[in-house]
Amino acid sequence: MDSFAAEGFFGALVPDAHGGQGYDAVSFGLLNEALGAACSSVRSMLTVHSMVAHAVTRWGSVAVRERWLPALASGKRVGAFALTEEGSGSDAGNLDTRAERVEGGYLLTGEKKWITYGQRADVFLVFARSEGEAAAFLVERDAPGLEVVPINGVLGTRASMLAELRLTACRVPDSALIAACPQWRRAHWTSAATAWRGAVWAFSPLRCD
Ligand SMILES: Cc1cc2nc3c(=O)[nH]c(=O)nc-3n(C[C@H](O)[C@H](O)[C@H](O)COP(=O)(O)OP(=O)(O)OC[C@H]3O[C@@H](n4cnc5c(N)ncnc54)[C@H](O)[C@@H]3O)c2cc1C
Repeated sequence: MDSFAAEGFFGALVPDAHGGQGYDAVSFGLLNEALGAACSSVRSMLTVHSMVAHAVTRWGSVAVRERWLPALASGKRVGAFALTEEGSGSDAGNLDTRAERVEGGYLLTGEKKWITYGQRADVFLVFARSEGEAAAFLVERDAPGLEVVPINGVLGTRASMLAELRLTACRVPDSALIAACPQWRRAHWTSAATAWRGAVWAFSPLRCD
């Protein structure tokens, strides 16, 4: 992890203004290819962490970007991507995880499965339904009501540190909401889930500002 950080790989997709490398898509693809040829688990870590960093770059408010991007770029904080559920993989339009609006924030309830690097990540980009809309939240590992359960004994990519996330009225502040877009249609969710490794890129044209 230290050498990975020293090479600047955690910040591959973070703009240089926030301490990252600002790679374009081709350079990032080549980096994935090179790392994946050596170790698919390391490549998986790069993928999910970068999806979180890219989402924060695209969707985060100025305050959220300033808070998170330098930490994600340096690898001081590692991100993981939490879309899949037991009954909702490709069919992400059927997400069960719910976000209930409460004073000063949200209560998230649901379960996420197959979360790459979940055992180690400091922050999760969690997808949920909030008042009928698709929404994405940054949930810190120590958020009250979040339990991380390791998935062990997988046949491959054993260093991917897969985990389940159990969210039980998990409380997050208002600032955790990264995006909520009424215009996201089911088709977008489905295509994004089918190619989840590129999901952030699939959502990007729908930027909600
Ligand atoms: C090692 C590993 C790491 C993972 N890491 C993450 C992660 O970090 N974060 C995360 O959110 N998820 C993660 N996942 C979950 C992964 O994204 C899902 O497994 C994937 O989205 C497929 O969902 P599913 O397993 O429910 O399969 P299903 O959605 O049930 O699909 C099963 C099969 O049916 C096909 N299919 C589905 N719908 C249709 C359709 N409408 N028409 C035709 N064919 C269809 C699919 O292509 C597939 O072949 C990971 C999974 C694995 C195995």
